[in-house]
Amino acid sequence: MHVWRHGSQAEKRAIFGGWLLALGACIALGLATVKWHWSGLPVDVGGVTAYVTVYPPLPICLLLTLTLGWWWGAIPAYCSTLVLALYAGMPWHWALLFACANPLGFAMMAVGYRAIVMPRDLRNPTSILFYIQLSFIASIFGSSGALIWSYTNHLAPGAQLPIWQGWWLGSFLQSVLIGGPLMALLWPRVARWQLARQQLMRKRRGGSRRSVLRMLATVAAGVLIYGYVTIRLAETEAAGVAEVFRQTVWIFYWVFAAIIIVIAFFGYQLFSHWQESTDRLLSEMQRMNIDLERLATTDALTGLLNRRAADRALDAEWHRARRSGHPSALVLLDIDHFKQVNDFYGHPGGDAALRALAACIRSVMREVDAAARYGGEEFLVVLPETGREGAFVFAERLRERVAASDIRHDGQVFRCHVSLGIAVSDKHEASYEHWVRRADQALYRAKQGGRNQAVMGA
Ligand code: GH3
Ligand code: MG
Ligand code: MG
Repeated sequence: MHVWRHGSQAEKRAIFGGWLLALGACIALGLATVKWHWSGLPVDVGGVTAYVTVYPPLPICLLLTLTLGWWWGAIPAYCSTLVLALYAGMPWHWALLFACANPLGFAMMAVGYRAIVMPRDLRNPTSILFYIQLSFIASIFGSSGALIWSYTNHLAPGAQLPIWQGWWLGSFLQSVLIGGPLMALLWPRVARWQLARQQLMRKRRGGSRRSVLRMLATVAAGVLIYGYVTIRLAETEAAGVAEVFRQTVWIFYWVFAAIIIVIAFFGYQLFSHWQESTDRLLSEMQRMNIDLERLATTDALTGLLNRRAADRALDAEWHRARRSGHPSALVLLDIDHFKQVNDFYGHPGGDAALRALAACIRSVMREVDAAARYGGEEFLVVLPETGREGAFVFAERLRERVAASDIRHDGQVFRCHVSLGIAVSDKHEASYEHWVRRADQALYRAKQGGRNQAVMGA
């Protein structure tokens, strides 16, 4: 669906064309399996006979499942099994059920990879072991169809074992020996291809809790319904089965159902516990990052931006002003005779004056302005979208506010005043440093001119 909606014409043709080709090949190979009897081939393993079934559609569909998604592999698997079953003369209602076996096995594989994010390139022992384990589980689930096959072909009890064993062993060996190496070869390429076409791939949210629960429930329900229907159908067709045997089968079924539910529930609990702890860790890290970012950009004494953040804000504003062509203003201010304040009221008294000045700046600036402590008792305010007149009005208002503000420290009340230098951005200037230098020169002139005044820079 996703590919259909977002793919280009060529991509659609390549993906769907290739897939339809694979579908056709699977059906043909499925028929070949029946025609040339590739099932239950005896293999001698050190004196013991093991039975192996060669079923080429299996590795093909497995690769489709692992690279593109479950539906991509499940549909050809279902179709090829259905066709071969009908060809072999299986009644259609049995065939419909019979064809579910391999898609069920693939579902186990897909769920495994969805729940645990594991690399699929099989380049390290853990990912290989994971793949082998999932292949085993998928093969066992997929082999459930062997019972139907044996039953509908009226095989003698002795002939059922080779079929079932051949089925799961064959499917396991094919998954590991053919699917595995192919996966290792193909996956890096597929991953690169998918990365380049992210809009084609449905965003996988890395197994959110609800999606994992839904998947586990679906698979558990699928297995149970599959088992239930199989037994029910067998029961209606084999009227003569002994009552004891019938009851045993049902007891076995319900115990099996209980175990499946317990395993699914337990797995879900484990998963959600694991996810909760990673979520908690993640949000804590995010909070710490925000704290760190704040610490790295604010001045501890005044709470204004620090020098580093001021330079960043200046640089950004300088670029913005240059691009838009609108002027921005910069006000640099320095407390007058601050040494005397320190000498008279002590260093803590000086600090109180710095905090009071920061409060004055905050009270006159706008939301979009940025204020920073640029040096010891030197401050800087960036005024976006502000020309000469606006900047001068701001500087004067700030100067008056500071001069009229009482500073309280240690039971004493005193006042300070400031000198201010103003510079309006100039798009012909090479960098923001030049802008600051002009403001600094204006500030110097304000000091020279007698302090407690604002001077507009050149
Ligand atoms: P001017 O009017 O020319 O600016 O005279 P000034 O005395 O203010 O001279 P200057 O700007 O050179 O003064 C800097 C003084 O600021 C020196 C230093 O002791 C004081 N200072 C710098 N940082 C701090 C601080 O964090 N706390 C306090 N209390 N004083 C500081
Ligand atoms: Mg100074
Ligand atoms: Mg000073």
